[in-house]
Order: sequence, then structure tokens, then C-alpha cells
Amino acid sequence: MLKFNYKLTVKERIKAKCPRHTRYNPERDGRGGIIGACTACYSLYDLLEARNKLDAAVREFVRRAGPWAVAREPRKKKPQPSAEPTALQPEEGRALTDVTNTRDGLPLAQLKNDRRMV
Ligand SMILES: [Zn+2]
Repeated sequence: MLKFNYKLTVKERIKAKCPRHTRYNPERDGRGGIIGACTACYSLYDLLEARNKLDAAVREFVRRAGPWAVAREPRKKKPQPSAEPTALQPEEGRALTDVTNTRDGLPLAQLKNDRRMV
């Protein structure tokens, strides 16, 4: 029995050209279009080859896995929390502002005065 999950995501945006042979295009010119033994041009060509091999490997994998793939059931959504907690949040905010008012304003001073009096 063979059983595994497989997830592949590759995202690369390539924009490259040889600084010496700016017109070299590995897709159009191929390996034979490389002038001299330019490493940058070879690098571009190898990159294109790697991409083509990867595409072919993914296609082959999907083709072979297709008949055996198990259809996924959609995830069950969690039940929505009740509206009560969200309704309480604005009151908590109001309570916080009340606390800051007592620090800076009159109510705190009144509290100190009350303590002295006791
Ligand atoms: Zn080059």
C-alpha cells in the first residue's frame, strides 16, 4: 500500500539575460546559440532546462497520481461564536477610558482627599 500527501508550490519570476550577450535567448537559440563558453549563457540555458524538467516531472506525477487520487472533502466550518462577546467589547473600551480619566482628572484627587479625611 502506498499512502502519502503531496503538495507542491513553486513561485519564481525570472527575468535574466547575459550581460555580454544580451540577445541570447535559450528558448530560441538553444545550446548551440551560446557564443564561446560563456558561463552566464550556460547558466540561462541550464535554468531553462531545469524548468522544463520540473514541468515534465509535475505533469508525469499528476498523470500517474490521477487514477489513485482521493477526492478531498471540503473542510467543515467552525460554528460561528455567538454575538454576545462582540457586543461586550465596546463597553470594555468605555471602561478603559473611564480609568484614564480618573488618573488625570478630578475623580482621583477626590479619592486622595477622601483617604486623608479617613
Ligand atoms: Zn553570455
